[in-house]
Amino acid sequence: MRAKAIVVGAGIIGSLVAYELRKRGLEVLLLDAGFPGRATDASAGMLAPHPEGLRGELLEAALWSIAAYPALLEELKPFGPVEAGFSGVYVAALSPSEAELWEAHDPLPYPVRGGQGGRRFPGGYVNPKALRQALLRALSAQGVPLLEARVEEIREGWVGWAGGEARGRWTVLALGAWGGRFGLPVRPLKGEALLLQGPPPPGPLFAGGGYILPRGEGVYLGATEREGWAEGVDLFGLRWLADYAHERFPLLEGAWFLGVLWGFRPAGELFVREVAPGVLAAGGHGRNGVLLAPWTARQVLRLLGVEG
Ligand SMILES: Cc1cc2nc3c(=O)[nH]c(=O)nc-3n(C[C@H](O)[C@H](O)[C@H](O)COP(=O)(O)OP(=O)(O)OC[C@H]3O[C@@H](n4cnc5c(N)ncnc54)[C@H](O)[C@@H]3O)c2cc1C
Repeated sequence: MRAKAIVVGAGIIGSLVAYELRKRGLEVLLLDAGFPGRATDASAGMLAPHPEGLRGELLEAALWSIAAYPALLEELKPFGPVEAGFSGVYVAALSPSEAELWEAHDPLPYPVRGGQGGRRFPGGYVNPKALRQALLRALSAQGVPLLEARVEEIREGWVGWAGGEARGRWTVLALGAWGGRFGLPVRPLKGEALLLQGPPPPGPLFAGGGYILPRGEGVYLGATEREGWAEGVDLFGLRWLADYAHERFPLLEGAWFLGVLWGFRPAGELFVREVAPGVLAAGGHGRNGVLLAPWTARQVLRLLGVEG
């Protein structure tokens, strides 16, 4: 197989990079191992740079991404519905010192037990799993099907997997939490979240150690942070989430349980750079990979000299 660019990893980062490259006319090959625990499929998809504490260049990158999202979603409309909202994100202060820190002078948009005022920031949310699926459909319509392959070896202009290989001018690694297997500075930080049937807030709402946001007809509530590669959801995670829902949000008392999600966040320092001749890597997005995906794709295009 031969392509101009081989993208390894089809989470939100790899799928969007592949989409943007294809849009500019490049021959693209997109490979994914289908590992359990893909972060994108479990993600809340909040576009919430201020509550997440981003500063400086990262904050600028995030705001650029938020501004880019509506046009991207418009382009992807023919490829399936992607739930999204851009009417802001909220922080609920739970103490006088938090109220001072956040300058939380606004009324809370949703009942929060112990809430002492709120603050609205620019931002929103997008359903990351639906967005990835729309990207994959758009790619497939342009002759780039997702190829299931667990890449084991990477050399300049060449990648190999059990029973196959491909050649390309460039290789882009978007391996998420699995990047460490190729020496990239990333570690897995598992997150678990609940889907509940209950009245949703108007947008993402942070309160203490967790948050809620609209998802479908109900609520997405997250999330735990647990180091390591243990797969699935255990009772500790479930209990933390259920206690958090119960203690913090009176409207969710007795809410029906719809499901549970989990995935490995790629924790570490964000990087988008050439790691070997002809090989680029993008990773370390941690809690903000959906937020930073459009900016990351743009950085990859720039490094490859295919901007525009
Ligand atoms: C519970 C939870 C809540 C989150 N909430 C938010 C949020 O509100 N906002 C936000 O911006 N971010 C959030 N995140 C983080 C965000 O989801 C991640 O930063 C982002 O999805 C990372 O995308 P990725 O493409 O790098 O990784 P992934 O989505 O994990 O994809 C990596 C892909 O690479 C593939 N792969 C790995 N190794 C190989 C190989 N050798 N060969 C082939 N394929 C390979 C895997 O199979 C996988 O599909 C959340 C994450 C979790 C878990």
